[in-house]
Amino acid sequence: MSEPSVFTRILQGEIPSEIVAETERAFVIRDIAPQAPVHLLVIPKTQQYRDVVELAAGDPALLAEVVDLAHRVAAEHADGEFRLVFNTGASAGQTVFHVHAHVLAGGLDEVSTGA
Ligand code: 5GP
Repeated sequence: MSEPSVFTRILQGEIPSEIVAETERAFVIRDIAPQAPVHLLVIPKTQQYRDVVELAAGDPALLAEVVDLAHRVAAEHADGEFRLVFNTGASAGQTVFHVHAHVLAGGLDEVSTGA
């Protein structure tokens, strides 16, 4: 068993962060360092998938649930339109190897494609 990721520790209440939405298998928090007016992270509750490539191969239904939840929170926190970013690999900017989607919304004119 690998060490609990920062997101698992948030889910377990060890690190404080408000869970703003959740489904049976995924949850949403605000990014601690927002890069857009709305910057949320949609995270599978399991940390067994390191990145979106592993998630797509291992549990495509869970990936679909993540996308659906991203749409739901983008509608609740902005106008329902959003950018969905999965940094995949350290050289692409991934720092937490527990797959998560960045939901960027609420006026993206000044925001680059990187999250
Ligand atoms: P990555 O760089 O792996 O694509 O994204 C990880 C994200 O998690 C970063 O945008 C970072 O700001 C966010 N993050 C890291 N630690 C915490 C934390 O303890 N709380 C919250 N809310 N976000 C975090």
